Amino acid sequence: MPVKTRIAPSPTGRFHIGTARTALFNYLYAKKSRGSFCIRIEDTDKERSKAEYETEILEGLAWLGLEADEFVRQSERVSRHAELLAGLIANDAAYISREPSKSDEGKTVEVVRLRNPGRSVTFHDEIRGDITFDTTELGDFVIARTTSDPIYHFAVVADDMDMGITHVIRGEDHISNTPRQILIQEALGAPRPAYAHLPLILDEKRAKMSKRSGQATAVMDYRAEGVLPEALNNYLALLGWNPGDDREFFSLAELCEAFSLERVQKSGGVWNRDKLFSVNQHWMRALDDETFAKAIGIDGVDSAMIRKAAPLVKERAHTFKEAREMLSTDLQCLFAEPILVRESLLRKELPDRAHLTAEALQKLTTLIAVLPEPTTPARAKEALMPYADREEEKGKGGRGAVLWALRYALSGQERSPDPFTLISLLGKEDALRRIDAALALIS
Ligand code: GLU
Repeated sequence: MPVKTRIAPSPTGRFHIGTARTALFNYLYAKKSRGSFCIRIEDTDKERSKAEYETEILEGLAWLGLEADEFVRQSERVSRHAELLAGLIANDAAYISREPSKSDEGKTVEVVRLRNPGRSVTFHDEIRGDITFDTTELGDFVIARTTSDPIYHFAVVADDMDMGITHVIRGEDHISNTPRQILIQEALGAPRPAYAHLPLILDEKRAKMSKRSGQATAVMDYRAEGVLPEALNNYLALLGWNPGDDREFFSLAELCEAFSLERVQKSGGVWNRDKLFSVNQHWMRALDDETFAKAIGIDGVDSAMIRKAAPLVKERAHTFKEAREMLSTDLQCLFAEPILVRESLLRKELPDRAHLTAEALQKLTTLIAVLPEPTTPARAKEALMPYADREEEKGKGGRGAVLWALRYALSGQERSPDPFTLISLLGKEDALRRIDAALALIS
């Protein structure tokens, strides 16, 4: 039978990183086995389910590239659920029980209870081995709040059966639900799928990663921060699974090839934001400069310049948010004319500094004018450094003062890339114009 897996999120909250990892493992296992992967939105809890959460979950899955072969919305299957419930009642595997309502005091409701054979249930977990539960204590447990409103356990089993799900891969918080679901399966005469319960994602305190952990748990928050889907998939895969060698970087296609349930670990995976960001830096660097510049996504800014600055940004930024911050701080001078302050330009309080700075900038101007265009930072350095070094020998404030004046004239910023990089990025014409403006300010 071809493998068929599913991710079955309840749209009662934002798209959690734990759900994303469960979806990823289901996707990987299905693709590795040349099977299919389904999305089932479990939206039968009318009070807590919200359309905006469903939208976010589906957008998030699409963003991660976890495309489904089949899509099901549980709320559209209620008549089928009622039919299956009626069947169980008809053959006495379940019965209607009139009981006091929990929500409406004084009223009674007709719930449906399963006739529990009361025995121990053993199931095999692909990750944890055999697990046994005694189900006697569960008694004849409730499977529907009314004859047409089944509880979660019943809906999951009915849908997995009808969809032909062969492997249920989900979070380990569902282990204790499994025996109950197996009893329902047996009553329905449904085949038992293979089970694999994944370890939890933990925070630094080794508690289940939640809002209280003080870190973002929503996939879309990481997207907003400028994490690439390739990076999140790569990181999530290694949080609970290992390839058996020391490879660290996997594309989704490579994960599909390498994945196996045998290599899923039993213990929880500790969420490490820095690690995620360093994986992200790898995938950011893997983008060509054109794509990288587009992904930074700032409108109304010289996009050709962003492309030119891409290698510089790739060196330091771990996320696109950091990249955007660089463009509006250290690299701002690439996109806007510097506003120079005379005292900053003549920082070294040496006597006659104005005269010396003007002299140095003038000389540098002649050296820059003969540079080839475009020029590399190394070429610019080679051409200008000997002059700066000579100044050092003359003891007129030194090479530092010359380089400061040049860098400040070009950038108007306390912090920026070195002057040679600036000349190469700005181009000769722009660089010379900026130095002229600085000279005008001195005289
Ligand atoms: N809807 C359940 C949840 O969001 C998942 C059920 C399952 O995977 O069996 O936790």
